[in-house]
Amino acid sequence: MKNYDYLIVGAGLFGAVFANKAMAAGKRCLIIDKRKHLGGNIFCEEIDGIRVHKYGAHIFHTSNKEVWEYVNRFVEFNRYTNSPLANYKGVLYNLPFNMNTFNKLWGVNTPAEARTKLEEQRGEYASIETPQNMEEQALKLCGRDIYDIFIKGYTEKQWGRPATELPAFIIKRIPFRFTYDNNYFNDEFQGIPKGGYNLLIEKLIKGADIRLNTDYFQSRYELDALADKVLYTGCIDELFDFELGYLEYRSLRFEHERMSIPDFQGNAVVNYTERSVPYTRIIEHKHFEFTSQPHTIITHEYPLNFAIGCEPYYPINDASNMLLLQKYKELANKKTNFLFGGRLAQYAYFDMDDTVAAALELARINFDK
Ligand code: FAD
Repeated sequence: MKNYDYLIVGAGLFGAVFANKAMAAGKRCLIIDKRKHLGGNIFCEEIDGIRVHKYGAHIFHTSNKEVWEYVNRFVEFNRYTNSPLANYKGVLYNLPFNMNTFNKLWGVNTPAEARTKLEEQRGEYASIETPQNMEEQALKLCGRDIYDIFIKGYTEKQWGRPATELPAFIIKRIPFRFTYDNNYFNDEFQGIPKGGYNLLIEKLIKGADIRLNTDYFQSRYELDALADKVLYTGCIDELFDFELGYLEYRSLRFEHERMSIPDFQGNAVVNYTERSVPYTRIIEHKHFEFTSQPHTIITHEYPLNFAIGCEPYYPINDASNMLLLQKYKELANKKTNFLFGGRLAQYAYFDMDDTVAAALELARINFDK
């Protein structure tokens, strides 16, 4: 008999939820991660009493009641409501686009006035039938003012290319809200775990054996020999030694800064939408948890071209990458004692609630018999 039923490669949210359900079904789990900490990208580092979201700001939000009830079995959530701001040339606007934004932008007070103004702006681009690029698509959907102030510079920074060279499909729709409501998400539930995301992960994996600083590819054959099955949540192309080619990503760079003032920007998230400002956002972490230290920690978030050694953050789901993914999936299907899950193995962007839902579903398939 092998030491473990499951070797779980990756101690992120997907691996942790699956491990939790596996252990509840009586399975023995070994979880490994190449990083020195648990939690994958939702990990927070505590610096001077402030939990810093090391891999980008994470706000839990969902309309999936099963997922919400599941995570609430392990941690309570606070009342944080995401209400980001956009800074354009020093002027602050509310996001998502709502009556507060339209009021500041155009001086309109009522939903009817805002709708009329928006239609007028869009009307100028009504002749664009089939948008040929992202710029045409956005102008058709929102008109010149919103495009120039909020979309053009921000999107060009994110993708590292002029809007006229980006495909139209990047923007499918632009949501407008004709109420004075700055809550970014439409979901029924949202918040930040009281005690932080690390606590959620620790509670999920309680009872499993853990090996950190352990890269699967450094000793895959020894590790495989320890367990009957492997749940793999790392990069799918890496599992096959990139033999068919590399899947492409966009990456990010974070600069964390401690400041000896109690409050830098009065809000957790401020987007910088001008092209000439090199970063896309400043995050002020203490506002996620309403703490009141005399100091604060902010993070500048910079978009980055992906290269070997960078963190793979956002998959580039264009036709050529999706074709390559399909080929890797065919190879993966042949690995009978392997299960796959999570954002890297699926090469997809998943919010945390989708990640939890997918891990619960994989557990249901394997353990509810
Ligand atoms: P990961 O968290 O990436 O975990 C995978 C783990 O596998 C990592 O720890 C990695 O080190 C490990 N691993 C990989 N290869 C190996 C190997 N060879 N050997 C050992 N270990 C390995 N979602 C929201 O709901 N709200 C948000 O506000 C939000 N903000 C986000 C912001 C950013 C910048 C990004 C990129 C994502 C955001 N998300 C957000 C999505 C969220 O991060 C994911 O849903 C979640 O982290 C996915 O968990 P995972 O376990 O699939 O992947």
